[in-house]
Amino acid sequence: MPKILISACLLGRPVRYDGKGKPLVHPAIDRWKAEGRLVAFCPEQAGGLSTPRPPAEIEGGASGEDVIEGRARVIEKTGRDVTKAFVEGGRKAVDFARANGCAYALLIDGSPSCGSGFIYDGSFSGVRHPGLGVTAALLRQAGIAVFSDREIEALVARIAEGME
Ligand code: SF4
Repeated sequence: MPKILISACLLGRPVRYDGKGKPLVHPAIDRWKAEGRLVAFCPEQAGGLSTPRPPAEIEGGASGEDVIEGRARVIEKTGRDVTKAFVEGGRKAVDFARANGCAYALLIDGSPSCGSGFIYDGSFSGVRHPGLGVTAALLRQAGIAVFSDREIEALVARIAEGME
């Protein structure tokens, strides 16, 4: 039974930059929990960042792939460069997903780590653009099927299709 790597904040764990969680309420979450399918992970904490922490964005309207390739940095609102922590946390997420048999990942959208539908543009002014965060990009490169929290129905359908 393939497991699902899930952003720890989606299970309500208080790991976000603001020290809070952001629980996703959906019957599938309860079912997957009962089935032991969910594997929670927070890449930013795994990369060594503390909680709470200043918000961070990928600079210059770039994406997670650009960060992995060394073409862009992740910057906190304070100006601190946290690129290394984000890449390290993303790599640890891939290792953790593999070690736990995760074929899927369900990640919260908008985060510079976990975003997969949109991320923010680095101006800290609320401007979004389509793109992947660093962890979402690394997981996709590793062949793990990434779904955002807004795509949970699609993940339910994918799992039902495979009867897994
Ligand atoms: S890195 Fe991902 S799991 Fe951790 S707080 Fe941010 S969105 Fe949630």
